[in-house]
Amino acid sequence: MFLVSNRALNILFFSIFCSFSFVLSQRNFISYTNYIDDFDLIIGEVSTLPSSWIGTKDVNKNIPILILAGHADSQGLDGAGTAGEAVDKFGLKPMNPEITDELFWNLKLQESIVELGKMRGLNIRSYDPGIRNIDNENDLRTNWSVGNKFAQNGGYVLEVHFDAYGKYGVGSGLIPSFFEEPNKIDESIASKFGRFPISFRGGLGAPRRQIRILEIGKLEGLLEKNLRNVKTRQRTIKLIANEIVEAFVQVIH
Ligand SMILES: [Zn+2]
Repeated sequence: MFLVSNRALNILFFSIFCSFSFVLSQRNFISYTNYIDDFDLIIGEVSTLPSSWIGTKDVNKNIPILILAGHADSQGLDGAGTAGEAVDKFGLKPMNPEITDELFWNLKLQESIVELGKMRGLNIRSYDPGIRNIDNENDLRTNWSVGNKFAQNGGYVLEVHFDAYGKYGVGSGLIPSFFEEPNKIDESIASKFGRFPISFRGGLGAPRRQIRILEIGKLEGLLEKNLRNVKTRQRTIKLIANEIVEAFVQVIH
């Protein structure tokens, strides 16, 4: 009799303990998911560089959109993109040893933007040169050559990037096309991500070829942690991709 009741007590204590930890873990889970769904918190610092442009030019409702992954053709060269805070500062393993972490995430985001964009009825596609180091930036297979041609035919070209961490980067924001008047899509994206001056660093290679650059945010802190954590990775990529697709949809539909 004594043994039975002792056992019953044990079970009782154990179940109280379990429900208590369950409640605690639920609370943690809820606060954590709220955390990763907060877009402004995820992208982190926004560019505070002085910029005065406003995109007011109308765009064709069925404008073809091309999404490029920054540094897809310049691995091992000067402009390979940022290794990110986790690898560079904390010594963690790169996501893929053959490419920078920035390109790894640029490619994931590119895929997600096109997938979500198609679901929302956008005239959208991606281009990936496949070859990871093309020495000549004017080679016909580079992001910039293909993007420039697409833009000259009336399309909107966006190359996605993550900025360098800490003092090496600026933060999130859009760099519009160097020679064109900024349009309503530029404005819509900039209203979510912030803006860089058009003549940033004297006009970069992409904007001089009518290719917009979107810096998602610095590859550091919460953004990078949520990307690296397999439990929050897909959700984080989708959250960012969805904001970009929404920016297009708000202007085009
Ligand atoms: Zn970049």
